[in-house]
Amino acid sequence: MSAQVIDGRAAAHSLKEGVASDVARLKAEGTGIGLATVVVGEEYGSAAYERRLTRLAAELGVVHRRCTVPATASQDEVVEVVRGLNTDPEVSGILVLRPLPSHIDESAVFRAIDPRKDIEAVHPENAGLLALGVPRFVPSTAASVFHLLDTWLDSVGENRADFYHRSLIVVVGRSNNVGKPATSLGYQRQATVESVDEWADRTTGVGRRTRWADVLIVAAGKAGLIKAEHVSENAVVIDVGINPQTGADGRVHMVGDVDFASVAPRVRAITPVPGGVGPVTDVWLLRNTVLAARILSGMTSDEAACSLTDPIPATVGVSALSLQEAS
Ligand code: NAD
Repeated sequence: MSAQVIDGRAAAHSLKEGVASDVARLKAEGTGIGLATVVVGEEYGSAAYERRLTRLAAELGVVHRRCTVPATASQDEVVEVVRGLNTDPEVSGILVLRPLPSHIDESAVFRAIDPRKDIEAVHPENAGLLALGVPRFVPSTAASVFHLLDTWLDSVGENRADFYHRSLIVVVGRSNNVGKPATSLGYQRQATVESVDEWADRTTGVGRRTRWADVLIVAAGKAGLIKAEHVSENAVVIDVGINPQTGADGRVHMVGDVDFASVAPRVRAITPVPGGVGPVTDVWLLRNTVLAARILSGMTSDEAACSLTDPIPATVGVSALSLQEAS
């Protein structure tokens, strides 16, 4: 049996249509939408991501303010750039691209972002709201993982709540920007969730946990970490990893954390790399920028989320909780 391949490009395309109509609606109402990106130094991955966002913002008619800061800039100088964007009326969402140079404490920079413009939920206030199950913004990569899962479940006619309630979700990788938010989103769907990091891999081996997963989310940044022997036959596998690899032709191309060739024939469904989580992540960031523009115009997070074309998946399964503003 061969897995269904979950098409991230198609999901991104339909999500983009929703975001485009939200942008048009807001603009017609006179609400400006602007994305600011802050890149410190020159890093291959950040530069490529920023170029994709520039193209997407232009396509959607969103203002894009690029702030390029030299790698030698001090922490205070980077914080000043962020403060300037906080008060810039043309900017509704701020993204500080990782990694920052090692002499800069990224948490100090993240704390400087106005929480209402913090579209990746890196400010402690937004990270806390996400952990409590009442997010203002859902970080784009974790949001995309669950958007792909949710839309795939819809496509195969499985009830989302029934599926998540009986599922074990194993998240490989525990970073603040991907692994932990994905774990929070799993909890919000009332799934059973396990988090595995490199220490589990070094001690008992990652497969001891992953083999039991109904849903396996892999965000470790290790090419080909997950192989056929690490997965169960019924698993749905979401590969977040993006790892540059030089092919036989000498060209650099991207591969995931999952060994697609050996895993795909064994599991129920799988995302490819490229063409899986990545394209959705880009659109989700723009979607969060629209959400931020709504919040800045005076809406509560709840009202802003409800006003968008596509519902927020993070609220699935948290109907008993009400979204509360922290400020
Ligand atoms: P990170 O380096 O910040 O965190 C990696 C995590 O994986 C850590 O918790 C680490 O302990 C864990 N880990 C490392 N080796 C492991 C192993 N052998 N077994 C289990 N856990 C292990 O990385 P990140 O920012 O979370 O990104 C992870 C990957 O996802 C990278 O390849 C990155 O490029 C990719 N990424 C993709 C998108 C997208 O849109 N598709 C977005 C962000 C990051």
